[in-house]
Amino acid sequence: MTSKIADVLIPLALDTAYSYAVPQDLALKEGDVVQVPLANREVVGVVWGQRDGQGGNLKKITDRIEVPGLSPKMRKFLEWIAWYTLAPKGSVLAMGLKLPDGERAEVVRVGVRLAGPLPKRMTPARQQVVEIAQDGLVRLKRELAQEAGVSTGVIDGLIDEGTFETVALLPEPAAEPPDPDFGQADLSDDQRAAAAALVESMAEQPAPVTLLEGVTGSGKTEVYFEAVAEAVRQGRQALILMPEIALTAQFLDRFAARFGVKPATWHSGVSGRKRERLYAGIASGEVKVVAGARSALFLPYADLGLIVIDEEHETAYKQDDGVHYHARDMAVVRGRIENAPVILASATPSIESRVNVERGRYRHVELPERFGGRQMPQIRSVDMRREKVERGRWLSPSLVGAMRDTLERGEQALLFLNRRGYAPLTLCGSCGHRYECPNCSAWLVEHRFRRSLVCHHCGHVERTPHACISCGSVDSLVSCGPGVERIAEEAAELFPDKRRIVLSSDFPGGTERLRAELAAIAAGEFDIVIGTQLVAKGHNFPLLTLVGVLDADIGLTSGDPRAAERTFQLLQQVTGRAGRGEKPGRALVQTWQPDHPVIAALVSGNAERFYREETRVRELAGLPPFGRLAALIVSATEREAAEGHARAMAKCAEPPPGVTVLGPAEAPLALIRGRYRYRLLVKTEREVDLQGYLRGWIGRCPKIRGNIRVSIDVDPQSF
Ligand code: ADP
Ligand code: ZN
Ligand code: ZN
Repeated sequence: MTSKIADVLIPLALDTAYSYAVPQDLALKEGDVVQVPLANREVVGVVWGQRDGQGGNLKKITDRIEVPGLSPKMRKFLEWIAWYTLAPKGSVLAMGLKLPDGERAEVVRVGVRLAGPLPKRMTPARQQVVEIAQDGLVRLKRELAQEAGVSTGVIDGLIDEGTFETVALLPEPAAEPPDPDFGQADLSDDQRAAAAALVESMAEQPAPVTLLEGVTGSGKTEVYFEAVAEAVRQGRQALILMPEIALTAQFLDRFAARFGVKPATWHSGVSGRKRERLYAGIASGEVKVVAGARSALFLPYADLGLIVIDEEHETAYKQDDGVHYHARDMAVVRGRIENAPVILASATPSIESRVNVERGRYRHVELPERFGGRQMPQIRSVDMRREKVERGRWLSPSLVGAMRDTLERGEQALLFLNRRGYAPLTLCGSCGHRYECPNCSAWLVEHRFRRSLVCHHCGHVERTPHACISCGSVDSLVSCGPGVERIAEEAAELFPDKRRIVLSSDFPGGTERLRAELAAIAAGEFDIVIGTQLVAKGHNFPLLTLVGVLDADIGLTSGDPRAAERTFQLLQQVTGRAGRGEKPGRALVQTWQPDHPVIAALVSGNAERFYREETRVRELAGLPPFGRLAALIVSATEREAAEGHARAMAKCAEPPPGVTVLGPAEAPLALIRGRYRYRLLVKTEREVDLQGYLRGWIGRCPKIRGNIRVSIDVDPQSF
């Protein structure tokens, strides 16, 4: 009898699989989830490879765990991500191996019962098992093994010989099956054509990626639902990724109107038994449609037939801690590996996706008009250099006038400012002391409703002091600049009898209440909504006819090369909230730079020109997608340690032709959570093997000492 050795990948920050001896009575496949000893504890891992060999002095695998294993495609996907992001394989595995919170053995609940003839070879262990099972009852494999005092491998052997049969124990369905013919939408001609193009493309080989570009309110959701319906008709699974799944009650209702039931949803808030059932149902293929946050991309779909990425331009798709990956890009990779078509939907596609269309890699399906003959909102800029605004006031007379008209007609107004809290900077009027976070190079933001000063980077909170902590002056604090809370205060003074609500991620009461308030807005229970980007995206407020953008320039001042694109996308989204119902909408955009290309493009509605110009700028600078980029952040609790290591790394960079290494320089936020950060930027031409270069470089670098950390971000989204 040959012995086997298994290489087991453990979901910890390790780059290689560890070898273990496979016990004789354990039949393992690659992808199986197993329990193994590591140092002096037991951990879970996945069989990454198996070979013949004497595992003499190796530790033994303890047992196999009855959860769905990782398919070859899934393992290939995880390998690919580890290769691309340079993250340790084990860290990537941790994203794909969602072990249930409670009793692991309970996940799938595969039961076994006696079914066929007794085995040819009878051992005492087998005898034990068979005896207990004589009553014909279905038992969990693990329980039966325990009762008989044998390993589950014994039962596996009996299953192989046909003595036992497995019975899936699914006490409750993980999700009701969606009905693709439940509520067929009455599509407009444009929509029907777009839907048909999507459905047709699903038959193509290899499966294509399609950019579904449609203005806000054009009905992209209705259109890609037809592709989802097609996947369901084929008996395959569909995944819809969304940037803010927890807030998408409206989306779930629309799905239910189309398919008869809500889709299964997957995000960090789904836990416990429900999470286990979903995981198992997705692995078995029983769950047909999943709507989820970016983590849903790492579920073990049995037969993925479609991936939709809603709002594909969203920055929320980028994960910026642990494994640095962009869910949109990884979704395209997963689609390729699974041979599943991918649809990227957006009103304001990323430059990356547009360029992929131009290069002929992605197909393009467009919806140029709003559904139902509705007009796009009229957008006008308000030149703040000419408006008479008192000190400490932020709403221009033009905007206030427009609000008055709107509110008098009984319609809704949205004031948008992408700044949480009351004021972004607080200082002492007597001594000039500025309140700064003790752990970060950032100002503390005053949150007046909570009477605190808060750091938006590390979460540090302190009570707003009564007397200055530096000079002791009483009531000397001055709030500089506006946040949404301050705008709400101003709106309250101007329109005291109107119903107002402030919405940002600080909203008390959690997701549940936030969802309820969003529904209340849609139902017309508020007149003035003041909010951050939380209210700017994706929501449908039919009574909203006026959008006022408080400070369109906020995002434009950063040194980030993507600043213009991001600001344009955000402003398009926000202004696109106006006039989605019966009545036409308009937007007023307060700005200090009305001639800035972003503002000009927004006002003229000429997105095409803006994108062309931005794309050209990117190309000239050799920035993605025309070149490749990676950021290496070296951090440590001591400034000198971080800087020293970053310099030492720069010394062994040895960039070949086509590669430029910039820095080290202080990272844009030089101190976060008590760690000093230095950054090296790697820019390469498009043909260069960036990953290969980075691996070589890291290999040449001095060993990391003390609490120094180096994090690698391939395709950084802000830099
Ligand atoms: P987008 O995602 O392109 O901004 P949505 O899919 O949210 O647009 O559609 C905007 C609004 O128009 C939604 O309220 C939606 O229900 C409605 N709508 C779009 N297409 C149709 C249709 N064919 N029939 C009925 N309502 C539609
Ligand atoms: Zn002071
Ligand atoms: Zn902080």
